[in-house]
Amino acid sequence: MSKDTFYITTPLYYVNASPHIGHAYTTLAADIVSRHKRAKGEKVFFQTGTDEHGSNIEKIALLNKVEPKQWADKVCYEFKKMWLDLNIMHDYFIRTTDANHEEQVRLIFEQLIKTGDIYLGIYEGLYCPMCENFYDESELTNGDCPVHKKQVENVKEESFFFKLSKYENRLIKHYENNPGFLSPKRRASEIVNFVKSGLKDISVSRTKVSWGIPVKSNPKHTIYVWFDALLNYITGAGYQVEKNDPEKLKKFESLWPADAHLVGKEIYRFHAIIWPAILMAMDIPLPKKIFAHGWWTVNGEKMSKSKGNFINPMDMADEYGLDSLRYFLFREVPFGQDGDFSFESFKQRYNADLANDLGNLFSRVINLSNKHLGKDMPEKPENSALFAKLSPNTAYIDEKINNLQFGDALNTIWEAVSLLNKEIDTQKPWQMAKTDLEKTKSFLKDTIWCLRLIAGWIYPFMPNTSAQMQMYLGIGNVKTDNSDNQKLPALFPRKK
Ligand SMILES: [Zn+2]
Repeated sequence: MSKDTFYITTPLYYVNASPHIGHAYTTLAADIVSRHKRAKGEKVFFQTGTDEHGSNIEKIALLNKVEPKQWADKVCYEFKKMWLDLNIMHDYFIRTTDANHEEQVRLIFEQLIKTGDIYLGIYEGLYCPMCENFYDESELTNGDCPVHKKQVENVKEESFFFKLSKYENRLIKHYENNPGFLSPKRRASEIVNFVKSGLKDISVSRTKVSWGIPVKSNPKHTIYVWFDALLNYITGAGYQVEKNDPEKLKKFESLWPADAHLVGKEIYRFHAIIWPAILMAMDIPLPKKIFAHGWWTVNGEKMSKSKGNFINPMDMADEYGLDSLRYFLFREVPFGQDGDFSFESFKQRYNADLANDLGNLFSRVINLSNKHLGKDMPEKPENSALFAKLSPNTAYIDEKINNLQFGDALNTIWEAVSLLNKEIDTQKPWQMAKTDLEKTKSFLKDTIWCLRLIAGWIYPFMPNTSAQMQMYLGIGNVKTDNSDNQKLPALFPRKK
């Protein structure tokens, strides 16, 4: 058995707050790649889930007068429901409170104590309880946590440490020898410079936090939430310390190394430095790619609880349709860069790209075909100049989606949509039909074949629209009467 399955992950989302558009963005990106590959017949394993331990969850649960697990259950359910509502087809949803995950994390921790990669020491440092992360003085913003802009605490405690410093040179060598590992390229230099500036061992256990996985050989310590959560990428894939379950062994061999970990840029360091170092310590091959995407601001401002400007993706999906949201997020901003979300730009894209360009093209072609092709099978006509011109794009779009360059793929698709609209405007098939019916039929069949291409290309981005289009693109076959009054529903009704 060897690796034969494309394995893609999202981070495990922390259950301190309800899902918002940022979470949806990462998960939709993984869904797009997964759908694209599955449609080509490739084996795919797409894993997402929730990160549920740590002092933050303990505090929130206390505040809400419930047990931490009850709180985690509630928020975990919200994530699961949102992925269902957003038509996300993940293969596995892992929770860090799953018994199997907890058990493997405990065993991995013991194994690393044995190899000396984890050792007991005293930690004194500046700690942000919201990040659950220690910071160097140099990393602070005016003495505050760089993420939360809140004061950090001076904490001194007995702690287990992970020997991160030991892996400095190996990490640098790995970055150099595997240029695709840190993606996109422009985010790589920050990581490389950080590692080159020298890595310190990191604290990986807490004595003050009871809501966590206890260290097997020293249970007054619980395992640091980040260390616990990162391991999901292997525990969910079937990794086991004691290789005693043949099914899991087979699963892990077919999946690992992961092809892509998608993460937000704020957690890139954990994934690009600590995670590969842990894998090196465990003697497990590294994932192929760690891709950090940007942040969404809302009308130019960072989303935050205090501003109350979190976008619930379902509000957009309810008003404009789910596929419109999926389209907007990946058309508006190149994946990897920061983007700004505004209702105005969403509506503009909806009306221009979807209602006008694609929706209009589709209804024109189908209505004209109903009128002039009748029950004719829409077989590829002898003269299919347009199809011949557009079909080579398939390879380009495939390459772009595989490289997570979703915006480039969508640009190419919409260039094809524009080209077809223009051809119809120029050829005027409604006039042509009066003088040369055969030529008109041939032209319409050509455009139908082009629309079939487009319906296939948009599938990973807009699965429902694609299915709807494909149904009607066989309309010559399925039409049962000759009346012209079958009203075609608009794919994207215009919005005022
Ligand atoms: Zn913080």
